[in-house]
Amino acid sequence: MTAPSRTDVLLIGGGVAAASAARTLRESGHDGTITLVTRELDAPYHRPPGSKELLRGEQDLDASLVLPAAWYAEHDVALRTRTSVMSLDPAARTVKLQSKDELTYDRALLATGAMVRRLNVAGSGLRGIHYLRSLRNADAIRRDLDAVGGLAGDARVVLVGGSYIGCEVAASLASLGVSCTILMQESEPLERTFGPEIGGWVRKRLEDGGIAVRGGVDVEAFLPADPDAEDGRIGAVALAGGDHVPADLVVCGVGAQPDVMLGKRAGLELGESGGIRCDDRLRTSAAGLWAAGDICEYDSVVHGGPIRVEHEEVAIAQGAYVARQWLGEDRPYDVVPYFFSDLADWVALESVGPARRWDRTIVAGSLDDDAFAAWFVEGRHVRGYAAFNGAGDIDRASALIQAGEPVDVDALTAS
Ligand SMILES: Cc1cc2nc3c(=O)[nH]c(=O)nc-3n(C[C@H](O)[C@H](O)[C@H](O)COP(=O)(O)OP(=O)(O)OC[C@H]3O[C@@H](n4cnc5c(N)ncnc54)[C@H](O)[C@@H]3O)c2cc1C
Repeated sequence: MTAPSRTDVLLIGGGVAAASAARTLRESGHDGTITLVTRELDAPYHRPPGSKELLRGEQDLDASLVLPAAWYAEHDVALRTRTSVMSLDPAARTVKLQSKDELTYDRALLATGAMVRRLNVAGSGLRGIHYLRSLRNADAIRRDLDAVGGLAGDARVVLVGGSYIGCEVAASLASLGVSCTILMQESEPLERTFGPEIGGWVRKRLEDGGIAVRGGVDVEAFLPADPDAEDGRIGAVALAGGDHVPADLVVCGVGAQPDVMLGKRAGLELGESGGIRCDDRLRTSAAGLWAAGDICEYDSVVHGGPIRVEHEEVAIAQGAYVARQWLGEDRPYDVVPYFFSDLADWVALESVGPARRWDRTIVAGSLDDDAFAAWFVEGRHVRGYAAFNGAGDIDRASALIQAGEPVDVDALTAS
C-alpha cells in the first residue's frame, strides 16, 4: 500500500468559504502546502449570479469565479476539482479521496456547503422540473427555457417557493419577458425573513414586474403535459384543493440543507439546525478540524447562542477567519451576518441580523415608497435590519446588533 500524501492545510469543499481561506492564507504569507478538494467541475465560484446575472445571460461562469482559475497554480495551491472526499478520519487526520488516494493533514477546514431540498410529490421526475444550486443548474434552466420557446415564445414558468431563489429567479426571467408564477405556502414573498408587511411590499414589486404571485397554496403533484407522451414533460402544477397551474418549466426553490454527510460519517457533533456544531472559534468537535460557511453551526457571541447562516458574505468571512486563526489570531468569531439580494433591477436589498425573533418592525421611511429601511426589534434590542433600494444605514444597524446594548427604540428612525 502506498503511503498517504501530506498537506499542511486541507480545504474540503469548493465554495466561497474554502476559496476565501486559501486566499487569506496566501495573502497573509502562509508558505505551507495547501490542498483544496472539491467535487465541482469548476474552480470555486460565486453562486448568487446563478439566480441573477448568469441566469439573465449577462455574465458567464468565468466572470463568476471567486479567483481566476490560474490563481491556484500561481499561488501554489493544489486545486483538485471533480474529486469527492469520500471519508474523513479526524483522529488520524486523514481523508480518502474518490481517486482512492489518501491525504493526511495538519489542519483542515470542512466547507461542504449545502444542497437543495427536493419536493417529494407525485410527478417529481418529470422533465422540465429544475433545482438551482450550481451555475451549471442555471445554464440548464436557460437551455431548457430555450427548448420550450423561451424568451421568444410564450413559455410559462412556475416557481415553487416564495423565498430568495423563487423571487430572484422569477424577477430575472420576468425582466426578460418570460411569464412567471410564484407558488408558495406563506402568504407573502420573503415573509419568513421579514414578516408579512414587508412581504406585501415585495409582492407589489414582483406583481408590478408582471409576475403572478399566489400565496397560501400547497403543491400536491406535478402533472405531465401529455400523459401518453414518452418524453414525460411537465405540463402543470396541481395544487391541494384542485387547481392546476399551467407550466412549461418549473424551478423549485424550497430551501437547502447543510451537506453534513462527510462530517456525520466522521462522527462530528451536529447541531440543532443540522449543521456541524462548532464553538465560538468555528472549531468542530474534532481536533485539527474547523468548519465554515453553510454547514457551520457556531456559538455566536453576537446572538448569544448557536446559529447557522446560509449567506455568501458569511461563508467568505468565516473562511478568512479560520485562516487567520491558523495564522495565530485568537479571538471569537464576532462578525454580524450580512446578506444581499437583488430582484432584477427592481429591488436591491441588504440585511444584517438575522433577526430570529422580533416583536416590532419599525419602518424608517414609508412602505409606499420605493426605498425604505426596517428595524426588527425585540424589546429594546435591535435583532435585525433590512435596507431596500439604497435607503438607511446598514453599518449603523450592524454596530447596534454587535454591541447588543438596549437602545432608544423610538430614536432608531431619526437617521
Ligand atoms: C442560486 C443561488 C443564489 C444565491 N444568492 C445569494 C445572494 O444573493 N446573497 C447571499 O448572501 N447568498 C446567496 N446564496 C447563498 C450562497 O451562495 C451560499 O451561502 C454560499 O455559496 C455558501 O458557501 P459555502 O462555501 O459554505 O458552500 P457551497 O457554495 O455550497 O460550496 C460547498 C462545496 O463543497 C463541495 N462538496 C460537498 N461535499 C464534498 C465532498 N465530500 N468532497 C468534495 N467536495 C464537496 C460542493 O460540491 C460545493 O462545491 C445563493 C445561493 C444560490 C444557490
